Amino acid sequence: MTKTGKFDVIVVGSGPGGATVARELSRSGKKVLLAEWGGHRAIKGTLFQATVAASIPGKSMLFTPDFASVFRGIISGGSSVFYYGTAFDPPLAMFKKYGVDLAEEVQEIKEELPVKPLDDSLIGAMASRIMNSAQELGYDWQKLPKFIYQDRCEAKCWKCAYGCPVGAKWSARHYVDQALDEGATLVTKTKVKKVMIHNGRAIGVESIKNGIGTRFEAPLVVVSAGGIGTPVILNNSGIKGSGDNYFFDPLIAVMGTVSKIKDGGKEIPMATGLHMEDEGYLMTDMTVPGTLFRMFNAQAFKPHKMLSHAKSLTIMIKAKDDLGGQLSARGGVKKKIEATDRNKLQKGFERAKKILENAGAKNIYHSAYLAAHPGGTAKIGQVVDNNLQTEIDNLYVCDCSVIPEAWGLPPTLTLVALGKRLAKHLSN
Ligand SMILES: Cc1cc2nc3c(=O)[nH]c(=O)nc-3n(C[C@H](O)[C@H](O)[C@H](O)COP(=O)(O)OP(=O)(O)OC[C@H]3O[C@@H](n4cnc5c(N)ncnc54)[C@H](O)[C@@H]3O)c2cc1C
Repeated sequence: MTKTGKFDVIVVGSGPGGATVARELSRSGKKVLLAEWGGHRAIKGTLFQATVAASIPGKSMLFTPDFASVFRGIISGGSSVFYYGTAFDPPLAMFKKYGVDLAEEVQEIKEELPVKPLDDSLIGAMASRIMNSAQELGYDWQKLPKFIYQDRCEAKCWKCAYGCPVGAKWSARHYVDQALDEGATLVTKTKVKKVMIHNGRAIGVESIKNGIGTRFEAPLVVVSAGGIGTPVILNNSGIKGSGDNYFFDPLIAVMGTVSKIKDGGKEIPMATGLHMEDEGYLMTDMTVPGTLFRMFNAQAFKPHKMLSHAKSLTIMIKAKDDLGGQLSARGGVKKKIEATDRNKLQKGFERAKKILENAGAKNIYHSAYLAAHPGGTAKIGQVVDNNLQTEIDNLYVCDCSVIPEAWGLPPTLTLVALGKRLAKHLSN
């Protein structure tokens, strides 16, 4: 079946990269089709919804050869529906080296979105205790900027990781909804297989929904299926060079037990922290919901800790891993956590251990390896140019794939900036 003639642009994937492009282009009057593999049900903040969208083995929960779990959200709004809402500025100088200036877009985002540290009343007891301890030891550990509408946010709510049910945490779902308000069309449960190319130009996409193939036609295609989804589509479309030599920002959760904390375990994760840039990792508090905590403990072979959620302090160590590895043709993550990355995580673990001990914690241990930011799989300068166009005319990429170097940071603010910049380029 072919659907034709109606759209100026097809955007594939509705995470922070795709939703931003779709929203901005819709606002500038373009007829946008947003093709999304996941569904568009209201975000409920339930374990069930988070499991279906972000923890299905082989689909949204992938495993590396070291059995590190890599999560992604297959849902309208992408992984940002389940992210922790921490905002980090892009490394502007690094992007400038590739001819990409994001300063103007970063400024626009800060004027438009709620990017600032939480009020003290929203910082949980566990995050405060960790921050105080780190500061006592001389670390410049501070509150981190969050993408949170604080007037809608409730203290002691812990549902960020399951998707914010009250819309307080900004996610790309907000931009999907705004794109729809501006007239964009969203097709859900639609998995794009490849881009159709004719005479060196993109002319549409082939997709599948409930086993039925559909072609959508448009003279412009933006692939934003995320760091793993995008290279699969590019390879299926005959575009070489993507899917190798990437990052996935491996992390561990360092946990220690204290005596019971009032309302322990019910708070916004990643509210405070410190970027140890020279040592190549980020440290933050990371109190997760009880089920995730129990999963961390099961994976770390600590079943006796599974009931200690309300009295466990957790620090996340997220490393800037060296580029490496391949993706399989279907998006399997064939990348190992190398010795240099393990050393970074170990160094972070030792620092976190001292911070937790100083906070009164005992029996300190860490989770298995996890990863949450696969990217660099279709890099600027290799697979796309500095306007994010591939070797094919009118075929662009805008998501975590285009990040050109090793990373180690929460990427969402950067992806929204890239989306805004691309939309300006395409509107000219
Ligand atoms: C637990 C967790 C916590 C995080 N916390 C933070 C944080 O605090 N701050 C931060 O900045 N970042 C955080 N991140 C990372 C952040 O969410 C992602 O880096 C970001 O969402 C990536 O955006 P993207 O547009 O590249 O891809 P995604 O958000 O992954 O979106 C890709 C979209 O494409 C769709 N898709 C995939 N394949 C296809 C296909 N073939 N056809 C159609 N659609 C397809 C997917 O369903 C999805 O909607 C976190 C991530 C996780 C998992």
